[in-house]
Amino acid sequence: MTTETTQETLSFQAEVKQLLHLMIHSLYSNREIFLRELISNASDACDKLRFESLHDAALLEGGGDFKIRIGFDGAARTLTIADNGIGMNREEAISNLGTIARSGTKEFFSHLTGDQQKDANLIGQFGVGFYSAFIVADRVTVRTRRAGQKPDQGVEWSSDGEGQFSVATIERAERGTELTLHLREGQDDLLSDWKLESIIHKYSDHVMQPIVMGERTVNQASALWARPKSELTDDDYKAFYTHVSHDEEAPLAWVHAKVEGTQEYTQLLYVPSHAPLDLHDRNARHGVKLYVRRVFIMDDAEQLLPPWLRFVRGVVDSADLPLNVSRELLQQSKDIETLRKGCTTRVLTLLASLAETEKEKYSKFWTDFGRVLKEGVIDFGSKDKISKLLRFASTHTDQPEENVSLADYVARMKPEQQQIFFVTAETFNAAKNSPHLEVFRKKGLEVLLLSDRVDEWVVAQLTEFEGKELVSVAKGDLDLGKLEDEAEKKQQEEEASHLKELTEKIARSLGERVKQVRITHRLTQSPACLVADDHDVSGNLARILKAAGQKAPDVKPILEINPKHPVVLRLQNEGAKFDDWASVLFDQALLAEGGQLDDPAMFVRRINELMLS
Ligand code: ADP
Repeated sequence: MTTETTQETLSFQAEVKQLLHLMIHSLYSNREIFLRELISNASDACDKLRFESLHDAALLEGGGDFKIRIGFDGAARTLTIADNGIGMNREEAISNLGTIARSGTKEFFSHLTGDQQKDANLIGQFGVGFYSAFIVADRVTVRTRRAGQKPDQGVEWSSDGEGQFSVATIERAERGTELTLHLREGQDDLLSDWKLESIIHKYSDHVMQPIVMGERTVNQASALWARPKSELTDDDYKAFYTHVSHDEEAPLAWVHAKVEGTQEYTQLLYVPSHAPLDLHDRNARHGVKLYVRRVFIMDDAEQLLPPWLRFVRGVVDSADLPLNVSRELLQQSKDIETLRKGCTTRVLTLLASLAETEKEKYSKFWTDFGRVLKEGVIDFGSKDKISKLLRFASTHTDQPEENVSLADYVARMKPEQQQIFFVTAETFNAAKNSPHLEVFRKKGLEVLLLSDRVDEWVVAQLTEFEGKELVSVAKGDLDLGKLEDEAEKKQQEEEASHLKELTEKIARSLGERVKQVRITHRLTQSPACLVADDHDVSGNLARILKAAGQKAPDVKPILEINPKHPVVLRLQNEGAKFDDWASVLFDQALLAEGGQLDDPAMFVRRINELMLS
């Protein structure tokens, strides 16, 4: 090998430079986390090798005892963190320690504000990883060799964290990775057994491999989830959460259970207290780690929970799956079905009890994760459980942040009321002020105010709750059935026949723009509104589909007019300007439900003319 290829100097990816800068300046006050991050990487490296060695025992090079060693040299002012895990070859060192390839990276950078405190929180959520070494060190040297490669294939990576790093090929007898941190000025308190040990206890006690200082193992080194619940404190669970999730904030809730039945497994599942940056990225990684008889198998085991529970973090340890299970095998495994069902039910039960007993926590959960959970109504087996967990704004309070459950709604229904009413719109205010609600407000009937984009989809999947049909107030011929008395009905029929001529005339004037024009009783204050035919796509959904660049069926709305409104009454006697009036009536109904006019300038001109006439 020539010298040029042995030694080279490379630049960090731009994002890495930015991250390094931020980290050193924002996380300084919380500098101890660097040790947790580096120990976590060392532990992952051991897990990876253990897993790979299941297929290729030679990788262990005769030694399967995994260990993480921590040491320091007071005279040289260095710390070392070493593991006998998988190690890295040259390409891996260059790409793993020179770039960031994580999902959510773009999101992360777009959220940076330049405010140190806020950015520090954000970095905490993002997970700082290897680069956190530079919080305390002004030079980091990594000596590593990938398991199974020859001793002359070792790699030395070194950087001062400023912008560049160097890599060189070296001799290295041991497999695995050793980091040497040359401490910055003022970090000398880390050069102490006592100090290092206390940091390890605080952050890394539950790491599965022994963490050794000198001759002593200083951590618990056992799988926390395998210990009996009675031995564990809330603090133990919280510390373990930080370990598996890299989230600094305490979790909102967790469930720890040993399941014995057709399948034997242990679950320790957490609901975080806030949404991660990539929550709405459906490809974001899942947070559950799979173990088989305490041997780590894989991160992000997406088969263990459905995508709509992708925010859950934790560990599932199976007693039955084969140790050499791969992602591909998992997909075909019947056993995984049982695990998935078990985990799904467990989380939904946890959420239900949170909703029942800790309303405030549940409402925090709903604010952050409600939109994701809603996706689950498509899951036949979980639909019923999820429908009880759903929360919506409602005319009961008319407050965007005060949500009601479907059960609350049903409990408040009028004795003669058969259906659950809802309105969908693009914003809370558009829903709350929708003309469609007028008659419901007058009659004191509660209506759910849906303004989340997924809500259209939720109500398409969820057509009933506890035997009560969910009905859009903006669809079909409004029939309030028993909610209207005979006198009202009779009056409506009379008005309809009386205004028959007018509705037909408006329909002719509007032509292709409408499917039909008819009298309505849903309005009390507005002159007109648009409704979708029973089986047509609603106007709101059509707009959402278009905005998302999808094809929306070209359905025409029905224009409904309020027979008592002065504008409508006046129209009966209108001559020359009838067409303008009809157009304005249609356009304002479209605007009121959040739609966009085809020709806004024309609308304005007509309004001005009518104002002057
Ligand atoms: P993350 O651990 O979140 O992926 P890091 O910045 O901590 O991000 O590490 C980047 C990558 O570098 C890791 O994914 C891993 O592949 C590699 N790496 C870091 N530390 C080690 C180590 N001790 N042994 C082997 N590989 C490591």
